[in-house]
Amino acid sequence: MLIAAVESSVVSVPFSMGGPHPLFAGQPWDRLEILLVRVETDDGLVGWGEAFGHAAIAATRAALDSIVAPLVVGRDAGDINELTRQVLHGVHLLGRNGPFVYAFSGVEIALWDLLGKRAGQPLWRLLGGSAPAPLDAYASLLSYGGDLELVARNTAEARARGYRHIKLHELTREAVLAAKAAAPDAAVMLDVNCAWTPPVARGKAAAMAGEGLLWLEEPVWPPEDTAGLASLRRYGIPLSAGENTAGLFGFRALIEAGAIDVAQPSVTKVGGVGEMKRVIALAQAHGVEVVPHSPYFGPGFVATLHIAAALIERPMIEVLWLDMEANPFDPWVRAEGGKVAVPSAPGLGCDPDPAILARYTKAPATRTEAKGEP
Ligand SMILES: [Mg+2]
Repeated sequence: MLIAAVESSVVSVPFSMGGPHPLFAGQPWDRLEILLVRVETDDGLVGWGEAFGHAAIAATRAALDSIVAPLVVGRDAGDINELTRQVLHGVHLLGRNGPFVYAFSGVEIALWDLLGKRAGQPLWRLLGGSAPAPLDAYASLLSYGGDLELVARNTAEARARGYRHIKLHELTREAVLAAKAAAPDAAVMLDVNCAWTPPVARGKAAAMAGEGLLWLEEPVWPPEDTAGLASLRRYGIPLSAGENTAGLFGFRALIEAGAIDVAQPSVTKVGGVGEMKRVIALAQAHGVEVVPHSPYFGPGFVATLHIAAALIERPMIEVLWLDMEANPFDPWVRAEGGKVAVPSAPGLGCDPDPAILARYTKAPATRTEAKGEP
């Protein structure tokens, strides 16, 4: 079937996060926004995808509406590998990591949703998986800006809600100690979002080496400095990275540098389901664990569930620690008792609730149609 139309729209949901709302890329972050990609085939079937996201939404949406959607309408919706090669080659001069690849990721996820719906199979089955039990999740706490009292309170609350793994977005050893004191039987991870140059990062890693972190995430600036990241391996803290890594070959560079213990590809950024498959296979061939990056609450999150369930031996799903007022993809975007269930309906198995979608969609969708359509 041919792709008849691509629509972009933004769902915007108020949320609370157990502390003051932070800035994200310099913008106040007080609403959870999802860039939805709706792909329709000429027989009327609809697939849903999600493109990254957060403060990048306006840029990603522009890339989608102006360039990526016109490249895919009129094409065979089932020809995912060929479309991936052609579209990503077509836009490579515009950036190998950024809005154009994010936009294509959203389309690609929707194409897998369509493929599953057409086959009458859930995505985990298309990927060769068996019926998944609920997956372990970890609570990914947002930044409390070094407020140790908020770190401790939210860590304790996350543990009380069933999470056994808790990740902080903080910068200090003191924050790690506060979390460990608040939840002594939980594993703690620290994500510093590329805060330090390698010499500074080595000092921080040396200071935190004895604290039993499950992993230290993106300690080095810039994220493409694979040698700088690898220079932290001597301190014995497992290192993770990948949410800012460009595709399969970006991961190959990280892995060949010996820089990571845990690869964190992100389905709405890296190119979609197909690129996730390739990155996961590469990591597994090198004995590197995969824990996908998934701070999402739409089809990107649900696609991550299917991929992890089917392809990762011991999946662990990142769930942002926040409370949404509502979500059109409920209940699939929420954890219960530290676990997340995986849909078994065809495709992603999570079509949005039309009433909630209508209530929280910010503005009319932008629609790109195949030429010759009315
Ligand atoms: Mg991160």
